[in-house]
Order: sequence, then C-alpha cells, then structure tokens
Amino acid sequence: RRRELEGLRDLPAVTRDGVDVALKANIGLLSDIRVALANGAEGVGLYRTEFPYMTRSAFPTRSELVGLYRKVLEGFAPHPVTIRTLDIGGDKTLPYFPMAAEDNPFMGWRSIRVSLEREDIFRVQLAGILLASLHGKARIMFPMVSSIAEIWQIKKILGEVREELAHEGQTFDPDISFGIMVELPAAVQTAHILVNEVDFFSIGTNDLIQYTMAADRNNPKVRRYYDSCQPAVLHSIKRVVDVALATGKPVSVCGEMAADPVMAILLVGMGIRELSLSAPSIPVVKQAIRSVDLRTAREMADRVLSLVSSGAVRTYLAETQNALG
Ligand code: PEP
Ligand code: MG
Repeated sequence: RRRELEGLRDLPAVTRDGVDVALKANIGLLSDIRVALANGAEGVGLYRTEFPYMTRSAFPTRSELVGLYRKVLEGFAPHPVTIRTLDIGGDKTLPYFPMAAEDNPFMGWRSIRVSLEREDIFRVQLAGILLASLHGKARIMFPMVSSIAEIWQIKKILGEVREELAHEGQTFDPDISFGIMVELPAAVQTAHILVNEVDFFSIGTNDLIQYTMAADRNNPKVRRYYDSCQPAVLHSIKRVVDVALATGKPVSVCGEMAADPVMAILLVGMGIRELSLSAPSIPVVKQAIRSVDLRTAREMADRVLSLVSSGAVRTYLAETQNALG
C-alpha cells in the first residue's frame, strides 16, 4: 500500500473525468520543504511563518527573513508559495515577545491584530517577503481578517513598504498576489464584500470550526462540538466557495479538513480546486481524488448540504466511503 502511494508522487491529482485539483503543502520550517517535495506537493498553500519566529531567541532581521523566504521560494519554484504573515497569539507565543495573559486568548490579541498594532514588526516581515519575491513565485496571505477596514489598513501599510523599498532602489515582484484567510464567521458573512479587495481566499477550517462552533480547537472537553461535519461549518464553506467562483477568484482550503480523503472529495464537489495540507497526507488525498469523477463528488456535496445534522452527515460519508472503497 505504501509503495502504491509512493507511485502516485509524480501523477497529477485529477478526477477520473479529468478535473485537476492542485494539492499543495502546509509548511512551517525549512525541514518541511523536503517532506513536501517527497510527497509531490505542487507548491505551498500555507507557509506558517510564525514557526521560524518561534524557534529564534529574538525577532529575525529583515535580511534573515529574506534569506529564509528565498530558500523556501527557490525550493518550490516554479510553483507558488503562499506566505502567511505572522499568526501568533492564541496558543502560539514567542519567547522574546511577552504578551499579557488574557481570559480568552483565541478571541483576543492575536494574528493580524498583533501585526496591525505592532506595525514595526509587520513592516519588517512584509519587506522580507517582497525582497525575496523575485526568487520564486510568492503570494502573500493575511490571517484572521474580520472586516474590510483591516484589509484597507493592510493595503496601506503594504503600499508604504513597497514605496520605501522602491526608494531604496530595491526590486521585487510588482504583481505579488494578495489574499486572506477566511477563518472567522465575520469573514464568511461578508465574503461577498471582502472578495472585491483580494486576489484569492483560503479557507482555514481549523479556526473556522472553532469560531463557528464556539469550541476551543485544543480543548478535549469540547471535542464533540469541534466538528467539521456540522451543517453550520459545511454551509459556511459552501458560501465562501460560491462567492469566490461567482467572482472568478481562486479559493482553496488549507485547514486539517483537507487532509481527510472523504472531506477532500466533498470539498471538490463543492467547487474547490486547490487544497493545502500537511504533506504526508497528500498521497492518500490524491488517491481519493483520482478514484472519483466530478459528478459523484458533486452529488455527494449536494446530498451533504441537504442534511440537517452532523450525525446524518457522518453516517452518509461513512457509507460513501465504503461504496468508494
Ligand atoms: C486554519 O485556521 O485552518 C489554518 C490553516 O491555520 P492555523 O491552523 O495555522 O490556525
Ligand atoms: Mg488559523
């Protein structure tokens, strides 16, 4: 079975009737590059840049970041690497950056909220990404966006950083694409507004489930509520996909849900054509995609979206899995 999966590495993730699905890797550290390539990743859909910050003893300098991002971009060229800006807070802290304790850290000062308040840190990272951008195909992505005003603020800062770099005589990719993670219910509900401001969406199901179901993603006591099969979660995803497809903007899924073969087929049935997942799961997801045709995936999605409970969704998906083998 393992040999069978290894044999898939250089085959495309394509349904039986010829629909291509891009399977990209989620990475964090440089050591993940090798694992991603070994599993046949077509680029990176989520580079969690907080990991290199977490393993250091002080904030990395601009030139350190350029060196690091350059290695990642070169590692995957010509495939794109979606570089997500710092996503700290919640459960991820930096040893050299004290954050005051909060009653509800996941609903507190985290992620883009930190970046927008500590512009000094944010600007160094944006400059690092831009300066590395000519060494491959970089895309830039912002986490935990909750409103259009945040996007305006991000764009203003990014514009200023570009100007400063141009002023220094530096060169960078002038067309670097700009996207957001859709991982808050607020972003789902306003997806039709936000879509006009971005080049792409990436649905972060890990946080989207947590915030939709009000269930801490790390708390085993509420594991039962943290449930990807809840209609509230599935309809949220469908809504975002529909908005993106209607406007012709690319939309991917980069949460853990994409690493489950049956869920991956369901997402393809909903209209998703790009998944980003932890690299070791790429072969089994690829095998699942290669085993179905789009009509079956669509029927599955339609059926699942008509069901009213998580229990019914699970039962149906288990039956489907058996039928698919
Ligand atoms: C997510 O929230 O789904 C996601 C992919 O990002 P992270 O797990 O890093 O929060
Ligand atoms: Mg997230």
